[in-house]
Amino acid sequence: MSPPLAPERVLPTLNVDGTRRRIRPRLYQGPRLTARRRTAWALMVLFAVAPWIRIGQKPLILLDVEHREFTLGGGTFLPTDGVLLMLLLLAIFVGIIWTTALVGRAWCGWACPQTVYMEFLFRPIERLFEGSRENQMRLDKSGGGLRRLAKNAVFFVVAFLLANVFLSYFVGTKTLLRWMTQSPLEHWSPFSIVAVTTGLVFFDFAYFREQMCTVACPYARIQSVLLDRRSLLVGYDGPRGEPRAKGKPAPGRGDCIDCGACVAACPTGIDIRDGLQLECIACAQCADACDGIMTKIEKPLGLIRYGSQATLESHAPPKLVRPRVVIYPILLAALLAALAVLGADRKNAEITVLRGIGAPFTTDGELVTGELRVKVQNRSDTSERYTLSIVATPPVRLVAPENPLDVAAFAQRTTAVFVVAERSSFLGGGRAVTVHVTDSRGLAIDVPYRLVGPSEMKP
Ligand code: SF4
Ligand code: SF4
Repeated sequence: MSPPLAPERVLPTLNVDGTRRRIRPRLYQGPRLTARRRTAWALMVLFAVAPWIRIGQKPLILLDVEHREFTLGGGTFLPTDGVLLMLLLLAIFVGIIWTTALVGRAWCGWACPQTVYMEFLFRPIERLFEGSRENQMRLDKSGGGLRRLAKNAVFFVVAFLLANVFLSYFVGTKTLLRWMTQSPLEHWSPFSIVAVTTGLVFFDFAYFREQMCTVACPYARIQSVLLDRRSLLVGYDGPRGEPRAKGKPAPGRGDCIDCGACVAACPTGIDIRDGLQLECIACAQCADACDGIMTKIEKPLGLIRYGSQATLESHAPPKLVRPRVVIYPILLAALLAALAVLGADRKNAEITVLRGIGAPFTTDGELVTGELRVKVQNRSDTSERYTLSIVATPPVRLVAPENPLDVAAFAQRTTAVFVVAERSSFLGGGRAVTVHVTDSRGLAIDVPYRLVGPSEMKP
């Protein structure tokens, strides 16, 4: 029994019987394609070389999840820098919202890895093996044969190389190079990560493709609330193009000759003349295609062009200053300022004072002894000695088995210390002291602490 048919196509990537509709875009040269190609290659080169770049002794970027150290731009952050990381993520989020309000989905069309690698690495390889759009469609019907097999073999090798570059962001280039010369059995865990990543990259670019943008990506879904009618997008000039009609331009008809070049060029398979759509990644391939047609029929360029909904529909003048494009940068500036202030105030160590394990205090005649645990997190990239002392009035005696305390670079140690105080100095079951920690680089951190002691004065 044949499957029921949908009355019309619901997704550009599906046929009405629910089978996959393969999108085979036709390549049209044009100024936007050239600019995007240059941008894409710059980004691909940056992705490949970034883990090799060093600032001083540190990599430009290293996300060492295993040791929970994150190096960005020469600075190393630890999980205890949660506030800084949260501010950074918020700033990125607001930056994306602002960029979308200004230039629409420019990220999708120009810089998203999905578009960059699909259109400027995997698709050119595909054209090399399978030829033009028409030839690729013939291969779709015939099953592909050896040419498609060879193409997929090259795709797999590229996916493997990309997976290795990806791994270098997490383990560093030195470790990666060492692992590459050893048996996978000696480091099966990262090898499995590379194997899985290779599989995912291959699946995405060989099979899943534009569905990542049209079905899976959440950004496409939230764009409608991020855009307004003045945001930049790639659009069709309806008033100029309609009424469309096939054949040569004639009086009383719009400039669109319904040639279908814009649809054939679209990597997500949509018709831009239907208006703003979730599937549009603003790549402008339809604009290059249409400009080529306009040149042939001797009409002005720009029937499909960058513009806002307002300017395309009513030719209203562009309006750059709107509430959302003013509010977002103010918010972004505030977040960046907070990030800068907190970042500048970040100390090379973090000290936490905790109560000792066991009885809160012991007494010996007129003396009361309390146990404290001092946790020292060395945030710097060199080992350091930390000297502990207690500041208190009246004074107390500190008994510390290891003082100074040696802590390796980026490591954390906890030491137990004992504070001996006069019984008479406790009021209401406690007294205030300050744990003072210094190191050889001039660090000085004070942590207030309340010692627990007897609540009653001895009669
Ligand atoms: S490429 Fe231009 S002229 Fe051709 S169908 Fe699209 S909008 Fe119309
Ligand atoms: S409609 Fe045009 S800009 Fe949008 S995805 Fe298709 S080709 Fe790119």
